[in-house]
Amino acid sequence: MTTTDTTTPLTTTPLTTELRTAAAAALDRLGVEVPAAPDGGGLAVVSPLSGEVVATLPEAGAADVDAAVTAAAEAFRTWRSVPGPVRGAVVKRLGELLTEHKADLAELVTLEAGKITSEALGEVQEMIDVCDLAVGLSRTLGGRTMPSERPGHRLMEQWHPLGVVGVVSAFNFPVAVWSWNTAVALVCGDTVVWKPSEKTPLSALASNALLQRALVEAGFPEAVSSVVIGGRDAGEALVADRRVALLSATGSERMGQQVAPAVAARGGRYLLELGGNNAAVVAPSADLDLAVRGIVFAAVGTAGQRCTSMRRLIVHSSVVDDVVARLERAYTGLPIGDPRAEGTLVGPLTDAASRDRMLAALQEARADGGTVVVGGGAVEVDGAPGAAYVAPAVVRMPAQTAVVQRETFAPILYVMSYETLDEAIAMHNDVPQGLSSAIFTLDGREAETFLSEAGSDCGIVNVNIGTSGAEIGGAFGGEKSTGGGRESGSDSWKQYMRRATNTVNYSTELPLAQGVTFG
Ligand code: NAD
Repeated sequence: MTTTDTTTPLTTTPLTTELRTAAAAALDRLGVEVPAAPDGGGLAVVSPLSGEVVATLPEAGAADVDAAVTAAAEAFRTWRSVPGPVRGAVVKRLGELLTEHKADLAELVTLEAGKITSEALGEVQEMIDVCDLAVGLSRTLGGRTMPSERPGHRLMEQWHPLGVVGVVSAFNFPVAVWSWNTAVALVCGDTVVWKPSEKTPLSALASNALLQRALVEAGFPEAVSSVVIGGRDAGEALVADRRVALLSATGSERMGQQVAPAVAARGGRYLLELGGNNAAVVAPSADLDLAVRGIVFAAVGTAGQRCTSMRRLIVHSSVVDDVVARLERAYTGLPIGDPRAEGTLVGPLTDAASRDRMLAALQEARADGGTVVVGGGAVEVDGAPGAAYVAPAVVRMPAQTAVVQRETFAPILYVMSYETLDEAIAMHNDVPQGLSSAIFTLDGREAETFLSEAGSDCGIVNVNIGTSGAEIGGAFGGEKSTGGGRESGSDSWKQYMRRATNTVNYSTELPLAQGVTFG
């Protein structure tokens, strides 16, 4: 959490002044009133574009979280009984408002998370897409009817709203992750309290304001969806609140390891979307032109700050030199700089600490016998001396050492080589995380083996496509220390509802199951 003393004059490079003005203008177009921070304190919003403070907001404490949960629990009593398709109409309206304000919200995402404009627009598009998915769900959610063993009986299941859903989210997908949870939770009949990343509160305020507008227009209370702007303390208060039926947390493995036992101890449910250490296998038969394009986007997109960013490349020894040479050429020309500028492909890292962790990881890789083939240094960008820009790195490693097995949230791609597919799969799975994976091959047997139960152990397994850039129609999430949660498409909605099994006797007899006789 970054707290600032507002008695100290804030740095104002011309870039920071421009960013403050741009943020204020975008918020104005979105119709968001930003609350004033108290004198002498508050939450400082630092833009990674300049590394300086662009806004200061009031910071929520435990009492604010308590108030938000109280209001959400109250709103739940009404919302749970609103017909599903009517709830869906509110989500449909949210999708319309997001479409109308796509560029404004994307601009805030770029200012706070540092994403290039195209990726920020893509993130808002993902929100619109998940609204569409949820609207469809609002008319199709349903349970099963099973044959009863007893005559004149019906055995069925119903899915009911769960209650208040707490959402804790990370800086790198500052708005989409909220919408994956919220659009689905709302049509399921739940209410939502969101604790966004302390690094991206403006885009959170804006997203929630659009939803509250949709709710009020339809005559529903704003408290169906609320946002609490704060740091880890606010997150911990939400995690600890017994009235939060499901806590959906997205962030680091460290955070998940704290959240899971705390929610379990109070008998709550949790859904975890944590770190990834995603790899691709490149087989001898791969279409290398296509593979390299897929690898570069996955490894370099969002400056390596996606949970699904490609961090490891396991390449057959017969093509590894060729692949590394192609990557070197592609990385050498990467446009690094202001993520708002036309043509930029690599924006800044979130902060200087992130850059330092990247540089330290490269040191460790070198000490393990690795060779940095290209990139890896800090990059100075004109007018932004406080920002943390880096050149994405490709590192050849003799083996998958400890540094490779960790998620360093920065653009480092470690390249290792293999001889047999079994060896490649073993290396692929030999990390704590299990989020996303890929194989590049034109050999059907290899592709099917990688997709099989003996292949990748990840939640997302792709063929001839990189590890990042998932569509919302599929369930999203990963195994092992990634947390096991699933959000977004497929049947992920079940996590936001409770299942009731019902047996109805419409006969005049009272037969007992399993042939039991009693009395
Ligand atoms: P982070 O863990 O530092 O913070 C994430 C959120 O958790 C923030 O809102 C933070 O305030 C809150 N938080 C931290 N400790 C907490 C605690 N003990 N109790 C309650 N809340 C707490 O992560 P970050 O740096 O914002 O994001 C990067 C990480 O998120 C990476 O590891 C990345 O892989 C992961 N991530 C995963 C997914 C996924 O879907 N699997 C998606 C996006 C990001």
